Order: sequence, then structure tokens, then C-alpha cells
Amino acid sequence: MDFNEYQLRAESFAIYEERLYPVVSLIIESAELADLYVKPLLRGDAVDIERKQVISEAGDVLWNLAVFLKREGIRLEDVAKENIKKLTKRVQNGTIQGSGHDR
Ligand SMILES: [Mg+2]
Repeated sequence: MDFNEYQLRAESFAIYEERLYPVVSLIIESAELADLYVKPLLRGDAVDIERKQVISEAGDVLWNLAVFLKREGIRLEDVAKENIKKLTKRVQNGTIQGSGHDR
């Protein structure tokens, strides 16, 4: 399945009309994904993180991002292409390490 097909199918499940819903939910789902790793790290125990849980939470993040972008008229594929272009430029410029948007 390519990005465009995914984005179209993802939006078909979006039942909320509220524009902010996928943005807020994106934050929540990102936290749920991070939580799988952060809590065991903070507790200092060596809990195996289940691949199935990671895939599930990453899917929730992807779904919200795809729906948010679709409603903003932005194709997920274009975001992916631009991101790779930006990262490639950073490697070529020797700025892949560091911080800041414009490097
Ligand atoms: Mg979730």
C-alpha cells in the first residue's frame, strides 16, 4: 500500500468533523508510543516491549497524521518526499547533526 492509498483509506474511518481532533489525537498517540519505551526506562526494569504494541501505537500516530494532512489538503506522499529531500540536503551540507529548522 502506498502513502496516497493509505491516506485515502485512513480518512474513510474519520468520523470526527472537528478540525483539531486529529492534531490533538496525534499528540496523545505519540505520547502512547513514547510511553511504551519511557516507563520501562524510568522504572529501570528490562521489560520487553512487544513489537505488536509498537506497531499498534505507531499505526495510531500514522492514522492521525494522515487524516490531519488530508484535511489540510496535503498529501502524505508529498510530506515523505519533502522530508527525504530535506534530510538528503542536510547530509550533503554536513548539517545532519545539530539542531534548528533551517540547516
Ligand atoms: Mg493508541
